[in-house]
Amino acid sequence: MTDDLLARHQAVLPSWMSLLYEEPLEIVHAQDRRITDSNGRTYLDFFAGVLTNSIGYDVAEIGDAVRKQLDTGVLHTSTLYLIRSQVELAERIAKLSGIPDAKVFFTSTGSEANDTALMLATQYRRSNQVLALRNSYHGRSFGTVAITGNRGWSASALSPVKVNYVHGGYRYRSPFRDLSDSAYIDACVADLVDVLQIATSGDVACLIAEPIQGVGGFSLPPDGLFKAMKEVLDAYGILFVSDEVQTGWGRTGEHFWGIQAHDVVPDMMTFAKGLGNGLAIGGVVGRAAVLDCFQAQSFSTFGGNPVSMVGATAVLDYISDHDLQANCTARGNQLLSGLRAVANPVVGEVRGKGLMIGVELVEPGTTTPSVRAAARMLEETRNRGLLIGKGGLHGNVLRIGPPMTLTEAEAQEGLDILVDALAATHA
Ligand code: PMP
Repeated sequence: MTDDLLARHQAVLPSWMSLLYEEPLEIVHAQDRRITDSNGRTYLDFFAGVLTNSIGYDVAEIGDAVRKQLDTGVLHTSTLYLIRSQVELAERIAKLSGIPDAKVFFTSTGSEANDTALMLATQYRRSNQVLALRNSYHGRSFGTVAITGNRGWSASALSPVKVNYVHGGYRYRSPFRDLSDSAYIDACVADLVDVLQIATSGDVACLIAEPIQGVGGFSLPPDGLFKAMKEVLDAYGILFVSDEVQTGWGRTGEHFWGIQAHDVVPDMMTFAKGLGNGLAIGGVVGRAAVLDCFQAQSFSTFGGNPVSMVGATAVLDYISDHDLQANCTARGNQLLSGLRAVANPVVGEVRGKGLMIGVELVEPGTTTPSVRAAARMLEETRNRGLLIGKGGLHGNVLRIGPPMTLTEAEAQEGLDILVDALAATHA
């Protein structure tokens, strides 16, 4: 940093806005999968702005689409008028969702998208009780802090949303850890039934779940879990909301939406982050009967704004034109097998799907989380020119989520750095 920016940041921004790295970095330039800081150092980016830069930086097609819109002079959302790009993107997302008769509402963030889903579900079902998974993260609005089971990220405990938590999220350090996948699914379903019968009398609006928990440390449930849970929910008429803020748009490789691994069609899906490749966008797609249930008027000033709409359309075009879903599978498998081959006792588990890969760091020979090793890994990788993230309930899980455009050579470069950094962390 060339001036006292860190001190100025701390003086004027709130203390809970934590920064990564002992010496926080200021990004001044970005191209493809690399970013350059204010000291002129360039890094390979394996975190993509927390999985937001889905196709990398300075992509000509996105820039062109946004510039063309800027040239029209129309920047405001004009929700009171027709917006062609909003209608077209909604049509496309409705079709991609696989939800019959789907409708779409656009917001600017993932928190707003989840808040909207909560409002819709509670209105539709006339109940203010919801279910969420343990260790979840769904945002920082007043509604979504209540359904964020990861308390380290749930800034306010005063939200009036009534929530009960069920198993089905984080598994590595849960009581169900050593069960087979099918026994694990049975245990989660039994827990859901218990909660419905004992804690809520079944009077519940929805269950909201991340198909792979993101902030929670890329925790991966067995395929089929949510189908089994939805069978129980259906018996009560409870809605199922899949939070696809991190798992959507093909990032998990095998499926376009994370929830598709479970062979289930949700009532609503929420999305944000990667759809805009850095532009502010979020939204809800779901059954028309649910989306239409508000009695009063409701819109978001910036939701559906034409700049985000044309940018997001260009992102979706790019993902399909370049078959990035297949690239996520190939590069994900390359990284997973490379990391699984590492014999280092601080690695408790390597898990993931596509380009969402978590490395659980533990005290050697135990399942005790090693917060120290994760903090050290962040510095060791940064010093070698690689940016990664961390997460999990204890902040001990390395999170690897590069842009979906990652090349084979870049995956190898990052892998080599990760292996070296692990060796330096636990020599
Ligand atoms: N849901 C999930 C799964 C997320 O990972 C996040 C952001 N990390 C959100 C919701 C909230 O999105 P935003 O920060 O855009 O409000």
